Amino acid sequence: MSASPILLPDHPRWGEFLAALSLAPRCLRTTEHARAALESIPDIDAAATLEALRAMGGRCDCAILYGLGEDSHAWAAGAARAV
Ligand SMILES: [Zn+2]
Repeated sequence: MSASPILLPDHPRWGEFLAALSLAPRCLRTTEHARAALESIPDIDAAATLEALRAMGGRCDCAILYGLGEDSHAWAAGAARAV
């Protein structure tokens, strides 16, 4: 049997997803980078996963990457200051 097509933090490929998402240049306050990362992983339902992550507080790429349940744009703010 295959693993769940919904990728959540307890999924064996979660680390693979975060590694792909961490390559995104910055958060655009969307989940477009997360969607692209999910679509790069075989056997994952990207749309259903994004919906599940949103329900857990993952409303944008940095929220998914740096802490589900927190409403922080530290990643985007830090990147803006670094320019
Ligand atoms: Zn964000």
